[in-house]
Amino acid sequence: MTTTHSITEVELTDAHIVVEWSDGHVSVYDPREVRINCGCAQCVEEWSRRKLLDPATVPADIRAEDYLMVGKYAVQFLWSDAHFTGIYTFETLRRLCDCEECRVARG
Ligand SMILES: [Zn+2]
Ligand SMILES: [Zn+2]
Repeated sequence: MTTTHSITEVELTDAHIVVEWSDGHVSVYDPREVRINCGCAQCVEEWSRRKLLDPATVPADIRAEDYLMVGKYAVQFLWSDAHFTGIYTFETLRRLCDCEECRVARG
């Protein structure tokens, strides 16, 4: 059984993206990690899923300047490198959470 997680709150700071989940979990992301995992057509080739984005081109101090909730299933970030086409589904964001608890849950 897969659980669908939903996001109740997103907070953007200079150093982090903080996401609060409906189950009470809080994820703290390194903005660069999230940016590198962008799955839009500019960053990932659609038919082959080959990564087009070279992580070396993503600035170390990249941050999310704004965000938008997309329906009830995803979040879109506006990055400080002016990239904004990536839509992160809740499941993707939850998968990117690298806290101890999530790592254990993933096995
Ligand atoms: Zn992208
Ligand atoms: Zn987590």
